Amino acid sequence: MWPESISPGALKTEDEHRRDVCAVGSWVHHRGFVAATDGNISLRLDPKRILTSPTAVNKGMMTPDDLVITDLDGKKLAGRRNASSELAMHLLVYRRRPDVNAVVHAHPVVATGYAAAGIPLNKALVSEVVLGLGCIPVAPYGTPGTPELTEALEPLVSHYDSILMANHGVVAYGQDLLTAFFRMETTEHFARVALVTELLGKQVLLSSTDVEKLLAARVRYGLSTAATVGAECPVTAESVSADRVTLTRQELEALIEEAVRKERARSLG
Ligand SMILES: [Zn+2]
Repeated sequence: MWPESISPGALKTEDEHRRDVCAVGSWVHHRGFVAATDGNISLRLDPKRILTSPTAVNKGMMTPDDLVITDLDGKKLAGRRNASSELAMHLLVYRRRPDVNAVVHAHPVVATGYAAAGIPLNKALVSEVVLGLGCIPVAPYGTPGTPELTEALEPLVSHYDSILMANHGVVAYGQDLLTAFFRMETTEHFARVALVTELLGKQVLLSSTDVEKLLAARVRYGLSTAATVGAECPVTAESVSADRVTLTRQELEALIEEAVRKERARSLG
């Protein structure tokens, strides 16, 4: 029912925005990023109004008149349905990031698996991801629909464009709805790639020189992202090898023997 493409940009009529939200709802549903009535999508209609998906409706089955308009405090201004209790997460992003005009929240399987394992997607494994998102951190757990959740996200929102929420899902955002959706899609795609490298038992990370070249390219391409880059973001080949210790079999056996000897001495004493 909904188109397989929407145009970029945030300057559209309200009717166009309503159709776009339904199209993205259909995409997140059909790509398996949400189950049942999970997930929510929103965008800035103007400086004072947010257009958002309703609670308790499957995001693949929404129609434009299901959508709800609220102010920036979440107070309903229009709509026969109600906004999700997770809208507070979206409102936090709009308050903290004046450059952001759209937010997508979903529970894509692999990225949510990383979130549930408490593992950030922060390794320099794929050049395009370093270029576009930098790192995807994990925000500590907070009960959905409560201030705990927004408090956990708050310190990260200014520095990242996609965040894993522990034991919950993913929130991604950008200057328009297409960008926010693409960041959700990239997060899940990267999580799949990262998982495959884990299954293969081997990860070859980009060097810090390669990462620096990508960051220079980001400036050249005029990519406007918050993507933070620091000592630990993204994790490069050098930062991993600095933590790695290599032992010969003999050295390892000597260490184990010594530990066992100490333990025996302790239990005898
Ligand atoms: Zn959720």
